[in-house]
Amino acid sequence: MKLNIVCIPGDGIGPEIVREAKKVLEAVAKKYGHEMQFTDILMGGASIDVHGVPLTEEAIATAKAADAVLMGSIGGDTNTSPWYKLEPSLRPEAGLLKIRKALNLFANLRPALLYPELAGACPLKEEISQKGFDMLIMRELTGGLYFGERKTIEENGMLKAIDTLTYTEEEIRRIAIKGFDIARKRRQKVTSVDKANVLDSSRLWRKVVNEVAKDYPDVTVEHMLVDNCAMQLVKDPAQFDVILTENMFGDILSDEASMVTGSIGMLASASLNDTKFGLYEPSHGSAPDIAGKDIANPIATILSAAMMLKYTFDLDEEATAIENAVKSVLKKGYRTIDIMSEGCNQVGCTQMGDLLVEEI
Ligand code: NAD
Repeated sequence: MKLNIVCIPGDGIGPEIVREAKKVLEAVAKKYGHEMQFTDILMGGASIDVHGVPLTEEAIATAKAADAVLMGSIGGDTNTSPWYKLEPSLRPEAGLLKIRKALNLFANLRPALLYPELAGACPLKEEISQKGFDMLIMRELTGGLYFGERKTIEENGMLKAIDTLTYTEEEIRRIAIKGFDIARKRRQKVTSVDKANVLDSSRLWRKVVNEVAKDYPDVTVEHMLVDNCAMQLVKDPAQFDVILTENMFGDILSDEASMVTGSIGMLASASLNDTKFGLYEPSHGSAPDIAGKDIANPIATILSAAMMLKYTFDLDEEATAIENAVKSVLKKGYRTIDIMSEGCNQVGCTQMGDLLVEEI
């Protein structure tokens, strides 16, 4: 298969971690007989320095023409970088918002997985962390409270702020379909999270999810209130497979889920539209404090590349080969600085990439 991939190295550690992800993808291509075609585009600070804007129309057109986008991270030190003296629409993160909108990326996927070898980094009680967990939060990204009408008015001499939370049936249906499709590739369970005891938007959410569930008899569906879900994530995270939820609940729960893994350098993410197209990136930022030192952990980006193989290209075996390589390298005791623990062997970014290539 020919895979046409646009890469956005970005800023900070971005170029280092994307370089390692490309190396691993090339190894997979060699093993399984695929052809990788990589095209780099500039975004964020790197684009500001060259073009004066965080993302050009030409770069968007190049991304749109690809099968998928693999990104490092964008942005610099927000206190010292000259990029943050520019007006907000010209700053690095404006490029990210622009590309998400241009590519209509409405579904955000964030897996939170606890590797047994990294259980020590999990802040939960040992009896919980010992069970391990492997969940994926599927968050609606373009609707709800963050995109509703908002205003601040003055009423009887008092300021009043209003935000509105709206969802159409169609917006819920398309994310629910994505959630059930992805559950089929995992352990066939969807936990739909809402606040249906209070909100109309949540009652509609629940109704539409139940309708979609009828087309997936092989997938178990359950509904959970968001306050209960926040508790269950720290009490019994092993119960979850796919958590399907709206924009704001997903924002909060996905951060909670990543914190309970305790290792930010390991967490992948994907944003999808209603075709097979996706933008894949690590959950962490550009880590300007360690950029250029060859010590960053490239695994989150490499696992994002594995998600790309699985969800855009349906290359499940190839994706599993990357996931297994990560497990094996951890089992052998190799660690980057962020996940280092006593008795392990500390390696840099390039060396971690080399070890994964060897495993594959
Ligand atoms: P950050 O995630 O970049 O860094 C937080 C801490 O985690 C730092 O100490 C960093 O060294 C460490 N860290 C992060 N990734 C690591 C890795 N792969 N290996 C080892 N250590 C790692 O968050 P921040 O410092 O708040 O943000 C830095 C910049 O990144 C800012 O400009 C921010 O806007 C940007 N950012 C970009 C994205 C994105 O591109 N999607 C997301 C979040 C933050």
